[in-house]
Amino acid sequence: MTALNDMATLNEATLALIVRHAEQAYPKECCGFVYADGEVRACVNIQDDLKSIDPARYRRGATAGYTLSVADTLALNRSFETANPASVIYHSHPDVGAYFSQEDSDKALFLGTPVYPVDYLVIDVRRAKALEAKLFVWRNAGFFCARVFPIDQSYREAHARRRR
Ligand SMILES: [Zn+2]
Repeated sequence: MTALNDMATLNEATLALIVRHAEQAYPKECCGFVYADGEVRACVNIQDDLKSIDPARYRRGATAGYTLSVADTLALNRSFETANPASVIYHSHPDVGAYFSQEDSDKALFLGTPVYPVDYLVIDVRRAKALEAKLFVWRNAGFFCARVFPIDQSYREAHARRRR
């Protein structure tokens, strides 16, 4: 997947759905993925369940971490055997900024190699409002920010008009 391909996947309507998911999930992290054709699968973040079951292993709850539900993980894995695979996995960062954290990197890699052939979108949400989204791509053995999507009010209004 390249940043160029993501232009089709992360179109304005797709981003508007992700923004809404991120704002509704606040103050928790939202998570989901986007198929190559731009369809969004809003996933269930089970991080709070994991923390309550095994707090020694899962120190972070859903305000500072995300894990896709089993059903969502299965759907993600199965997508790679179809003609319309997942191409972007997204999650939000409530009140800390849209950086790619060490936890994000650990989750995306297995023995130093990307687990999935996807890019990662992180949404910066402050006080329940998404400010921007950053796309992180794997290049030269590291994740770097390939694109920034500013989220402003006109963007939300454009989406609302289309839905009427
Ligand atoms: Zn993160």
